[in-house]
Amino acid sequence: MRDQESGVVQIHESICVGCGTCASACPYENIRMTEVFDHQGRLYRDATTDLPIEKATKCDMCSKLPSGPACVAACPHDALVRIDLTESKPLQEWLDLRS
Ligand code: SF4
Ligand code: SF4
Repeated sequence: MRDQESGVVQIHESICVGCGTCASACPYENIRMTEVFDHQGRLYRDATTDLPIEKATKCDMCSKLPSGPACVAACPHDALVRIDLTESKPLQEWLDLRS
């Protein structure tokens, strides 16, 4: 679901049934299906098939991290920046800084 304020799309883990439709549909390969584990590190498995249960995962802009996106903080070359692409000004300013 899309957060109305930030615009970030987040996967509602408790609602996702792992059908994979979103991962197949995303043209940017931005959504992946991943196995899920309990607190002891054990795989959740389907009771009928015994196959690992998968759920969708994607970048959530590190929305639970007070310090913001971890990838941005980790890049030693300042090559990563989060920009609202609905506004061209921040992107142009960032590009100007690097020219
Ligand atoms: S895998 Fe994707 S499309 Fe399927 S229920 Fe989960 S979020 Fe929805
Ligand atoms: S580290 Fe970057 S790519 Fe990964 S979830 Fe956080 S913001 Fe998204």
